[in-house]
Amino acid sequence: MTNCLFCKIIAGEIPTNKIYEDDKVFAFGDINPQAPVHILIIPKKHISSLDDVTAEDKDLLGYIQIVASKLAKEKNLTDGYRVVNNCGVDGGQTVAHIHYHLLGGRTFGWPPG
Ligand code: 5GP
Ligand code: ZN
Repeated sequence: MTNCLFCKIIAGEIPTNKIYEDDKVFAFGDINPQAPVHILIIPKKHISSLDDVTAEDKDLLGYIQIVASKLAKEKNLTDGYRVVNNCGVDGGQTVAHIHYHLLGGRTFGWPPG
């Protein structure tokens, strides 16, 4: 998708703090971190939101969780962490390319605001 911020980041058209990349996913530091560790994990395939996934995306979505777990280990988040997907207006989604926030390094409250 040509006019998508995160597709441009994947393509290297917008510089970012890349943390991980393989043939399926890309991970980078959030520009406005909400915790000592705040990584965005995105599929290279453009999917607008969790509302737009199909059964075809099953392996990809599962794989993102494996990457989240791996990155959490690499960042030494031994006391735990949070993985968040914001979907749509009510979910607080601001970028229309599905992404998972990996947050760690502090204790989070519940319920979320
Ligand atoms: P959302 O609110 O859609 O769940 O999360 C979007 C996230 O993308 C926000 O946490 C925001 O700080 C981050 N973000 C927005 N623009 C950029 C950017 O250009 N670079 C990086 N690294 N993060 C961005
Ligand atoms: Zn995109």
